[in-house]
Amino acid sequence: CGIVGYIGTNDAKEVLLKGLEKLEYRGYDSAGIALVAKEGIEVFKEKGRIATLRSVVDEKAAGTVGIGHTRWATHGEPSRINAHPHQSKTERFTLVHNGVIENYEQLSREYLTDVKPASDTDTEIIVLLIEKFVGEGQSVESAFSHTLSLLKGSYAIALLDGENSEIIYVGKSKSPLLIGVGDGFNVIASDAMAMLQVTKQFLEIMDEEYVILSRDHVVIKTLNGETRTREPFIAEYDA
Ligand code: GLU
Repeated sequence: CGIVGYIGTNDAKEVLLKGLEKLEYRGYDSAGIALVAKEGIEVFKEKGRIATLRSVVDEKAAGTVGIGHTRWATHGEPSRINAHPHQSKTERFTLVHNGVIENYEQLSREYLTDVKPASDTDTEIIVLLIEKFVGEGQSVESAFSHTLSLLKGSYAIALLDGENSEIIYVGKSKSPLLIGVGDGFNVIASDAMAMLQVTKQFLEIMDEEYVILSRDHVVIKTLNGETRTREPFIAEYDA
């Protein structure tokens, strides 16, 4: 299982699919990608292999921002509906997640009594909570960090906002996550292997940090609101 992401000026689709192929060794039962297109966010996902996912991705789907996921099911059977990315009810927000949210039932009872999830996953609750908090007036960044602070368990998360194609929101706790730094683009990967195709420079993200990722900037913050600076390292292995 793993996550990938791309924000730049080239076609995101091919970078994401290649990245997911590089993560195949980690094991998975389904896969998906989401692209920020002109008409909003487009999601393609399928049970089975990356080759199967490739066959359902619309070749004309264009976007320079996107996220992708290979799933190793922990909550909910392997199926198209349970595959990531997961969308919020209005489809404004789209999210991928690796890990396990231990308190998802409790969070659902506490905050989402009026919302019926579409899937059986522990993941969908995260995107539903973000949309709820934004609906209550929070900024997307504060809804994102507030939601992360409520989660118990493990996560590497990437979130797209269909109303803002300039940012991918990224969060991590106890699941692996790196940011790959490029010239005019940035990427997300569970393992550097996935993104050696486009960069060798990576930044390690620590537990309970989140990242505001744009084409030209990587802003790392802690859930307590402090900003962190960090130098990239050079990944030494071959692509
Ligand atoms: N717990 C989530 C699910 O079952 C994520 C699994 C994963 O890490 O791939 O959908």
